[in-house]
Amino acid sequence: TSTSITIGTTHDCEPVTIGGTASPVIMSGPCAVESREQLISTARAVKEAGAQVLRGGAFKPRTSPYQFQGLGIEGLHMLSEAREVTGLPVISEVMEPDMVDTVAQHVDILQVGARNMQNYPLLMSVGRHARKLPVLLKRGLSSTIDEWLLAAEYIIAAGNPNVILCERGIRSYDPMTRNVLDLTCIPLLHELTHLPVIADPSHSTGRRELVPVMSRAAIAAEADGLIIETHIDPDRALCDGRQSITPAQLEKIVHETRLLTQLM
Ligand code: PEP
Ligand code: MN
Repeated sequence: TSTSITIGTTHDCEPVTIGGTASPVIMSGPCAVESREQLISTARAVKEAGAQVLRGGAFKPRTSPYQFQGLGIEGLHMLSEAREVTGLPVISEVMEPDMVDTVAQHVDILQVGARNMQNYPLLMSVGRHARKLPVLLKRGLSSTIDEWLLAAEYIIAAGNPNVILCERGIRSYDPMTRNVLDLTCIPLLHELTHLPVIADPSHSTGRRELVPVMSRAAIAAEADGLIIETHIDPDRALCDGRQSITPAQLEKIVHETRLLTQLM
C-alpha cells in the first residue's frame, strides 16, 4: 500500500488525505477555467456532489496553438476565489519551471501534465519548491512505467517527496477512444512504489459515457483516487467537453465509489 499525503495545508481550506488507508479522493472540476461564473458555479456543484478537491486548468497545454489556451494568471485568481467560496483544495497545471512559485501561491496540488512528464527542468522546479506542495505527475502520452517512476524520482531527488501518480491513459493504434486506460498499472505501481496512484477516466477515454464505468473499474483496481472533468454545461465547454460529465453524473460516481470501497 501507499503512504499518505495531506493536501491543502498551505491555504485556508478543508485538508484531504490521499493514499495509505484513506478512502479514495475524488478531484473534479472543468478541464479549463473559462470564466469566474463558470468556475464558481462548477466548484459549488462538484462540492455538492461530494468531490474533495477542485480541478481547473489556467494554463492549458493544447495540441493546436489556435485552441483556447486558458486564462493564465487571471484563472489562478479565480481558483483561489473558488477555494474561498467552497473550502475545497485546488489542483491546477503548471507548464513552466519559472511559473512554479506563482502557481503555487494559488493551488494546493501542482499538476504536471502528460506532455511535460519528461520536462526535467520543470520536474526539478516542482521538486525544489519550498513548501513541498504535493505534485500530481500524470503519465506521459506513451511513457513506460519505468520512465514514469524515474520522472517521479526527479521530483523526489530535488527535495519534494509528495508525489501522486496519475494514470491518464496511454496511446494505442485505435482512435475509437482517446487513449487506453492502463488499469493494470495501478496494482503494479502499488507493488513497485509507495506513492499514491490515481486514475483519470476522462482523458483516458475521451468519452463521457465511459467515465462512470471506468471510474468504478479504477476504484476496483485500488486507485487512491480519481480526477474527473465535470462541467455545468459540457456541450459548451471550451476544452474537452466530449469527455466532461455533469455534476449529477459526478454525484453518482462519488456514491458508487463509497459503496465499492466498503466492499473492498
Ligand atoms: C488535463 O488534466 O486537463 C490535461 C491536460 O491532462 P493530460 O496532461 O493528462 O493530457
Ligand atoms: Mn482536459
